[in-house]
Amino acid sequence: MRIRNKPWASDFIAQNPQYIIPNPEELKGNWHKLFGNDNPIHIEVGTGKGSFITGMAKANPHINYIGIELFESVIVKALERVIELGAPNVKLLQVNAADLLNYFAPSEIGQVYLNFSDPWPKKRHEKRRLTYKGFLDIYKEILIDNGEIHFKTDNRGLFEFSLLSFNEYGLKLNYISLDLHKSNFEGNIMTEYEKKFSEMGQPIYRCEVQFV
Ligand code: SAM
Repeated sequence: MRIRNKPWASDFIAQNPQYIIPNPEELKGNWHKLFGNDNPIHIEVGTGKGSFITGMAKANPHINYIGIELFESVIVKALERVIELGAPNVKLLQVNAADLLNYFAPSEIGQVYLNFSDPWPKKRHEKRRLTYKGFLDIYKEILIDNGEIHFKTDNRGLFEFSLLSFNEYGLKLNYISLDLHKSNFEGNIMTEYEKKFSEMGQPIYRCEVQFV
């Protein structure tokens, strides 16, 4: 992700606390109250500029969505999309996924989406991959029993690593496609990276795995 410095981003974020939540640790265990309903809460980790999370929120009004993104200069674009959508079922958090246990209580989350996560190709950086065991421990803790991770990527190396990581963790593989756009999977919502890479003719890998 190319990150441009946006000096106005901090002010814009501070002006929209109803969409991009300040002090999320105060909501741990109480996210349903914030949404004002008991609908499932799905999170996208590494949400980028928000095409996916806003598309999902629009398509599925009875699910609550939270987009999680590390960088202010990236999440502001997602914030613009969330404001434009104006839907009550999508919020954003500008936090590090490594700290998710500070923000969500056990079993508070219904599903995790990982889309085009940074591949961190060097072996010495593998712990930073969002499908590494350390992150799976976090997702398991905050997910409901039998919760699922839905993962898409254009990166074959990351996909292979992730399948092995899921398998070593004992996750059940419920769905796999090695070329999502040529499969009969219905209801796919594209991410920014997905648009870019599929326009370049690259296949998109997708899987759904489940904690058992
Ligand atoms: N999901 C988007 C898409 O498919 O277009 C963005 C993909 S981009 C390659 C990966 C995003 O994940 C970046 O915006 C990056 O800042 C974010 N990210 C990476 N590691 C993260 C972490 N530990 N916590 C939160 N966000 C993270």
